[in-house]
Amino acid sequence: MILDVQKLNWARKYSGELHFSLQPNDELVSIPMVKIASEIAVDGSYEIFDDDSLEVRGTVRYLLQGACSRCLQSAEKWVEAEWNACFVKGESDGENYSYKKNTVDLDQSVQDAVMFSMPHVLLCKEDCEGIFYQPQPENQNN
Ligand SMILES: [Zn+2]
Repeated sequence: MILDVQKLNWARKYSGELHFSLQPNDELVSIPMVKIASEIAVDGSYEIFDDDSLEVRGTVRYLLQGACSRCLQSAEKWVEAEWNACFVKGESDGENYSYKKNTVDLDQSVQDAVMFSMPHVLLCKEDCEGIFYQPQPENQNN
């Protein structure tokens, strides 16, 4: 998703809503045998400030699908996470994203939000005991 800051300024649309989606790529997922099975849906808003910096805030949402990290059964989970980013015009100041030539490409910040929100494991159910779990026989030697 690309925002043309100059056009938005000319149209005096200094703030507004953002709804778009991004195709996932496998490099975003750090869990073995798991992939993102949906588009990455982004809902949020933007604001342009006097110095032409642009701030976005909202949420990213995506579906993880694959093998449960403990028992390898199939598992899936929707993940929703915050998406906040600030873009400054010109050279990056090290803390914020930067943009040149009046257009802001939001995709990298969305991918970063996905990576930051990536859980360490995907579980088929919250209390999955894994394949090595053996129920303990009840103690009958009282
Ligand atoms: Zn499991």
